[in-house]
Amino acid sequence: MQSTEIYLDANATTPVIALARAAALEAMDEAFANPSSTHSAGLRARARLEAVRACARRVLGAPEGQLLFNSGATEGIQTAVLSALSALRGRLDIDCLLYGATEHKAVYEALVHWSRLLRLELPILAIPVGRDGRHDLAWLRARAPRAGLVCTMAANNETGVVSDLDGIGQALATSPALWLVDGVQALGKLPLDLARRRIDYAPFSAHKLYAPKGIGLLYVRAGAPFTPLIAGGGQEDALRSGTQNMPGIAAFGAVLAALEEGRVLRDAATLASWRDQLATALAEAFPGLVYNAPLAHCLPTTLNFSVPGLGGGTLLNLFDAAGIRASGGSACSAGNAAPSHVLLAMGVSNEQAGAAVRLSFGPASDADFIARACARIRACGAALRACAMPSGEADERLARLLAEGDVAAVQKLDAHALRQLAIAQPGTRLVDVREPYERHFTAALTCDAPVDSEAMPLSRLLDAVPGWLALPEETPLVFVCRSGNRSALAAAALRRLGRAHTFSVAGGLALWPSPQRRS
Ligand code: PLP
Repeated sequence: MQSTEIYLDANATTPVIALARAAALEAMDEAFANPSSTHSAGLRARARLEAVRACARRVLGAPEGQLLFNSGATEGIQTAVLSALSALRGRLDIDCLLYGATEHKAVYEALVHWSRLLRLELPILAIPVGRDGRHDLAWLRARAPRAGLVCTMAANNETGVVSDLDGIGQALATSPALWLVDGVQALGKLPLDLARRRIDYAPFSAHKLYAPKGIGLLYVRAGAPFTPLIAGGGQEDALRSGTQNMPGIAAFGAVLAALEEGRVLRDAATLASWRDQLATALAEAFPGLVYNAPLAHCLPTTLNFSVPGLGGGTLLNLFDAAGIRASGGSACSAGNAAPSHVLLAMGVSNEQAGAAVRLSFGPASDADFIARACARIRACGAALRACAMPSGEADERLARLLAEGDVAAVQKLDAHALRQLAIAQPGTRLVDVREPYERHFTAALTCDAPVDSEAMPLSRLLDAVPGWLALPEETPLVFVCRSGNRSALAAAALRRLGRAHTFSVAGGLALWPSPQRRS
């Protein structure tokens, strides 16, 4: 991570912390053997693996049942859905499959995918949620007697809303349904007590809690139906074949041990006090801010909010320019311009959902980090007040022009290609289309190629168009922005207006060789 970065996107993924990295490296040296081998090195690797599994059982409250190592939650969800649906074929006592309306996309897509492959023609119904993001238990109780599978997450990745698992459990008390609980976001932040809750399947991803990507766990209740997703050499009691990822398991084990022993990862009260500090800084920076889910019902590590009048893109661009890495919602849907399905399901308006920003931190943060994050948030508020706000978002003519351009047809240049172009074509014009409040945090753009640099916010593009159209036809016009999206829009617009020699910098300043922060 860059030292000036304030990483507030822990619900998307977390960095690998030192103790996990050390455990992975040590496993590569000392436990590299195949844990299925029967020689001494294999036996040592196996012992290491089983020790991690035992620790995970204690942390998750799962003394019985299966706890399988796999590649992560998406795989765990597939395995659970495949297992449940395979067992439901031919059952006449059930008439639907249920999933929470705010579930991660992996759950709904797995239900659709495996229903189709297994030719299970049961309706897949979304359990409605209230404005607080919690499941409608009356609705669930009414469908529960004939439901075959119920999928509900323990805590939501976008809003942090914590589900009422006990209430759901009661609604399912006499139901024949199998119950999948996506535990990804709860791990390390909430006690899960899997066995006490009669949960049938619970998937986890280690990278959401400071271990590397590519390692996860699936809990399967003793006696719950099971069909392996991956058949092969018979590892994991033949429930999940493939040689186990020992470095990943060791790293995950180190984090789970720290969690069990109360080291490194902070308790809920501390996390809540940090959340309160962030909320205070946000209220000062952005008066009028509204939370999209009541903080009292959320993980203490997640804040999802909108600032009326400020599009989500505006705030995210501002945060990124200031070195705060945040997101508009789920990382998997970050490239998707549509408002979050989670917020819409909660009854948040399109406009408010489109402006949503999520800040999330992990339980291994510290007070100093939170203080720096608060200071940076306050600086963002000050930058916004100091700079004129773009009028462009409201400008219909500009919006129409941008919508008409063919972004896919724009040639995107990397640093090398830009340099070559500038050398070949003296007078190449490099236009920074970021808004003034973003430039507030960065020194003037420097480029190691001979270019004429210019700043022209996207919101004022139309003012500059006549001048650009008057440039000699062969003069390259190259747009740059934070991530490459707005610059591609600008370039497409100029091409639409007939200026063929127009380009965009691929990946924008995020991939610029020397990002220049002011503070
Ligand atoms: N479930 C939830 C709640 C998540 O947040 C995620 C990841 O964002 C997943 C499932 C999928 O996890 P992975 O991408 O690690 O397989």
